[in-house]
Amino acid sequence: MIPAQFDYVRPDDVAEAVRVLADCEEPKVMAGGQSLTPLLRFRLAYPDVVVDLSGLAELRGVTDDGEWLRVGAMTTHDEVMRDPMVAQHCDLLAQATRTVADPAVRHRGTLGGSLAHADPAGDLPAVAAALDAEFMISGEDGERTVPASEFFQDYLTTVLDVGDVLTAVRFPKMGAWSCHYEKFSQAAQAWAIVGVAAAVRLDGGTVAEARVGLTNMGSTPVRAREVEEACRGVPARTDALREAAQSADAGTDPPNDLSARADYRRHLARVLTGRALARAAGV
Ligand SMILES: Cc1cc2nc3c(=O)[nH]c(=O)nc-3n(C[C@H](O)[C@H](O)[C@H](O)COP(=O)(O)OP(=O)(O)OC[C@H]3O[C@@H](n4cnc5c(N)ncnc54)[C@H](O)[C@@H]3O)c2cc1C
Repeated sequence: MIPAQFDYVRPDDVAEAVRVLADCEEPKVMAGGQSLTPLLRFRLAYPDVVVDLSGLAELRGVTDDGEWLRVGAMTTHDEVMRDPMVAQHCDLLAQATRTVADPAVRHRGTLGGSLAHADPAGDLPAVAAALDAEFMISGEDGERTVPASEFFQDYLTTVLDVGDVLTAVRFPKMGAWSCHYEKFSQAAQAWAIVGVAAAVRLDGGTVAEARVGLTNMGSTPVRAREVEEACRGVPARTDALREAAQSADAGTDPPNDLSARADYRRHLARVLTGRALARAAGV
């Protein structure tokens, strides 16, 4: 279908983008357009103005920010998965990004677009949730930083207001942590039926700490807190980690859809979490 008519603006910097957004009635920010374009074409979104961020070089790239890595919102998936600093300090993000769609989508789609779109089947929200990433936002009232625990509000819904621009996302450097992203999908290069973002910090042969984020197990990314607790102090062995993963679906509300029933997703969450923890622990 042909999208409804809209005006198009391509600002030169974030300040101009925020000004334009404040002046419009129903604007829509466009990053890589991989999710927005279908919405426009199906007329599920009909903004009066599309504000294209592709000219904002300041929103691209990865920078060292002390204990954090700062990834500009307009950094493409392809750039994220090839970035040496991401590989060194936040391999969980690189691993999950490598599973997103296909090369064509990864060359256009952006980290910020994926997180702002907040599709619970998307692979990157669970990584942000598991690592307690921080979201940097510019809006009419200035700049603010929002933790991942507050950023994702509901299905395709975040704290971003209509006039806000997500400028960057900060991920903690993972230091001694090791990690694994486990994705289960019907075909190569497809959306996750369930995904698990797992990170562990080992102390000798036991798990000192674990972090687990789940993809597609609710209307937002879900943190498997019971598993994280259950992992504390257990031996880094496959059987022990599988046992700790048995509560992975606790507190989740997975969808029932054409790809899988909710009870199957619950089963997958338990199995994949055990597998992801074992791979993260290197056992
Ligand atoms: C065929 C196909 C397969 C895919 N498979 C997967 C997959 O397996 N896993 C996965 O995780 N994703 C998948 N995706 C989605 C892909 O990751 C997209 O890149 C992503 O969802 C949107 O990123 P984008 O940069 O294109 O954002 P856009 O489509 O441009 O924007 C998406 C939404 O976010 C808003 N937005 C974007 N950037 C900002 C910003 N900086 N500030 C405020 N709001 C913003 C827009 O207004 C819009 O509402 C797939 C997409 C396609 C087309």
